[in-house]
Amino acid sequence: MTSLRGVPVSPGRAAGVVVTMPPPVPEPPLARLPESADAEEAAHRITQAVRTVTADLLERADRAAGTAADLLTATAARCADPALARCATALVRERGETPERAVWEATQALIDQWEAADGHHLDRTRDARHVRDRIVAELTGGRPPGIPEPGHPFVLVAHDLAPADTATLDPAQTLALVTESGGPTSHTAIVARALGIPAVVAVDGADRLTDGETVLVDGSAGTVHRRPSAEAVAVATVTHPFREFSGHGRTADGAHVELLANVADLASAKAAVAVGAEGVGLFRTEFLFLGRAEEPSLAEQTRAYRSVLDAFGGRKVVVRTLDAGADRPLPYLSDGGEPNPALGVRGLRAAAAHPDLLERQLAAIAAAAAATDAQVWVMAPMVATADEADWFVAHCTAHGLDRAGVMIEVPAAALAARWILDRATFASLGTNDLTQYTMAADRDLGSLATLSTPWQPAVLRLVAATCEGARDASSAASGPRPVGVCGEAAGDPVLAPVLVGLGVTSLSMAPAALGDVGAVLATTTTERCRELAHLALGARDAATARGAVRAALPVLDRLGL
Ligand code: PEP
Ligand code: MG
Repeated sequence: MTSLRGVPVSPGRAAGVVVTMPPPVPEPPLARLPESADAEEAAHRITQAVRTVTADLLERADRAAGTAADLLTATAARCADPALARCATALVRERGETPERAVWEATQALIDQWEAADGHHLDRTRDARHVRDRIVAELTGGRPPGIPEPGHPFVLVAHDLAPADTATLDPAQTLALVTESGGPTSHTAIVARALGIPAVVAVDGADRLTDGETVLVDGSAGTVHRRPSAEAVAVATVTHPFREFSGHGRTADGAHVELLANVADLASAKAAVAVGAEGVGLFRTEFLFLGRAEEPSLAEQTRAYRSVLDAFGGRKVVVRTLDAGADRPLPYLSDGGEPNPALGVRGLRAAAAHPDLLERQLAAIAAAAAATDAQVWVMAPMVATADEADWFVAHCTAHGLDRAGVMIEVPAAALAARWILDRATFASLGTNDLTQYTMAADRDLGSLATLSTPWQPAVLRLVAATCEGARDASSAASGPRPVGVCGEAAGDPVLAPVLVGLGVTSLSMAPAALGDVGAVLATTTTERCRELAHLALGARDAATARGAVRAALPVLDRLGL
């Protein structure tokens, strides 16, 4: 048995047959139909292929749920766009091009037309190319792009996954995920954890894994074993049920620590309800906007928000307003030409540049909130200054949304928490971005994984600074300014007691992590949490901090964590 090493990002062990992501569909050569060929018949093949691909996408949309269903439906609509078939069949009839070449050129012609009319729209162009590749694969008998569907459970091996691909991952079929690229808080890692799929990213040598070979993936240890023994496979195949969550987060001395879930749509909200999450600490609304050419209408937004609020009737739901830009570009918002998009017009900055869009989103959230009895809190992503926070709170208040807060994801905001929390009524630490910006390490780069960890004492000191700022703001405002964590750090059962010791009052995570985090907190007193926080803050580096906390928390071994 040989092993590959990577960064563990989603726990669990699974063994199965490798299926690799298909390579990009190659550009068909510039070739003409042979003299003897029937151009009408060749044009008909295009119409047929378009029909088959559209029907296939719609069928998959029917089987999917939530964001995946929306994305597949939107792609099917792009495929069925009559302009594409009209233009491609004309190229066959008039210029004698092969059907696959004609589809390729027709797509490019359409993209050029759109760009000439109203500029570059990243998502629309990407969707059009995706549809093109599917039709060309259908015409040439090649492998269709996107997540493979081999008809049996498999271990997916990829260079990396695009957000649109991850949205269509089927956890019932995907036993484990192995990628060559990606960091611990990359989109791929977050989705794998949310779906409970064991995953290892930044695997050196992942490109050497071949279709059909059996591997054993250990998402806790960060290893991929090739040619595992039958016994190892048998052990890994026994399902490891998630530890159950009692539905109430508390420390050993009875202090309440809200344990909440991160959700993106109704499907993930249902999963969170099923495991007993106390509420939602992060509703990532951008998934409703991604992968489409236009902003969803007010009515559609209201329906989507309401469905999640209804699932959590009576409980707290923290809705994050649109976090577009950087790794989540939107054609109608983002400037595709930014040289450093992670430092560009993203999050609240994009909302400030398009206040009408924020207005519509807040109106939809307010309408959804009015129709349910969930306790709706609203927060803005990527806030850097007190002025930005005040601006956001004023907009929320105008819509009757009184629980208006901010995410702390930028070091400047952590250091200015005292002033930011003057008007904002709560803060939620987005440790994924906070780590990225503190360490100047792109969260999507697997090669920087040792820097990209919230265990970095510098990041923990910013968490402490935020909690301290919140305490000062609470006294000034004569009311509590709670601070939660909704980055991936919250779901790390070793780090959770440290965060509580630093002063955090709620933790929001992938639903599958609630049981482990709840179990560790239930056996750790608040005083012990403070001691652990002190240990971690005083460490010289991330590995030392983690090692010291582990050594001081023997319960982790007893719980098998
Ligand atoms: C974060 O940055 O920690 C966060 C929760 O936001 P996202 O991962 O969606 O950027
Ligand atoms: Mg973030």
